[in-house]
Amino acid sequence: MSSFTQGLEILLQQLRSLDCQNRPRVDQSNLDRIERLRIALAEYRRSETTVGTSSRLRQAYVAAAPEDVPNPEARAGHSEAAAARSSVTVEQELDPTVDRLPTVDLVPAKNDDQEQRLAALREKVLVCTKCAHLAEFRHSVVFGVGNPNAELMFVGEAPGADEDLRGEPFVGKAGELLTRIIETMGFTRSEVYIANVLKCRPDMPKGSSGNRPPTPEEMQTCLPYLRAQIEVIQPKVMVALGGVAMKGLFGTSEPMKSLRGRWHSFGDIPVMATFHPSYLLRNQALSEKRKVWEDMLQVLERLQAPITQRQRNFFLIK
Ligand code: URA
Repeated sequence: MSSFTQGLEILLQQLRSLDCQNRPRVDQSNLDRIERLRIALAEYRRSETTVGTSSRLRQAYVAAAPEDVPNPEARAGHSEAAAARSSVTVEQELDPTVDRLPTVDLVPAKNDDQEQRLAALREKVLVCTKCAHLAEFRHSVVFGVGNPNAELMFVGEAPGADEDLRGEPFVGKAGELLTRIIETMGFTRSEVYIANVLKCRPDMPKGSSGNRPPTPEEMQTCLPYLRAQIEVIQPKVMVALGGVAMKGLFGTSEPMKSLRGRWHSFGDIPVMATFHPSYLLRNQALSEKRKVWEDMLQVLERLQAPITQRQRNFFLIK
């Protein structure tokens, strides 16, 4: 075993010892780091017997633990590149039909079950550094959560601060509301699948709180991962949450007022567009809640799920 591999092993052991701390918000980023290091280590071991893979190796290692990269020049280069690309604000046209990463390399072969295929895809996504400024900023890559065989899939825009710390989509205030919507539909979170167009939290200037929407460039770079997730899960119906998700999926900039309540097609999968839960948090009018609920009733009908009279009447003004 080389001293480099040994060093990685020691680092892994040290990180693993943090698992038992009862501080889940802090631990999630450690857990993700452990996972990325494990993948980097596996990659390194594979390449120990292969000639000519050192740059791929270095990439994997820089992605896993940039602060531990043995060669400081490589690290400096990584940070400069990241700083140069930080907080991209240039508005670019988004064309969701253009793949930055070929989906064909991402979708695992069909010989495993969906859970294994999704786990294999997750491993690839966790080490992504395509957007160096986001890789540098994030605590975790927020891959997605739920049932790999889900009939219903929800797609949001990007993780916020809460999601970045927990490594799970929709766990903040908007997430609590989404969970209530899912449960009112008659499902649990673990029965459906939830993912975002962008898998990393959009970076924010140092010292500032809050979240920003992803840029078209960031969404386009990340979209192949979502495509691959959809290809593995093959949901019967998808729900796009808000205008940014619609832009990510379809490249449209039409206002949500005209997009919501209608079916759109992502390949052969019907997609219902509805307001983002954070819009409902900002606008508490019953009429807006009813609109979202009517969209969800359409989803239930499309899934041929049973609908009670009580469900039909939610948020109706008497
Ligand atoms: N908003 C989103 O679009 N996605 C999340 O995961 C959280 C908030």
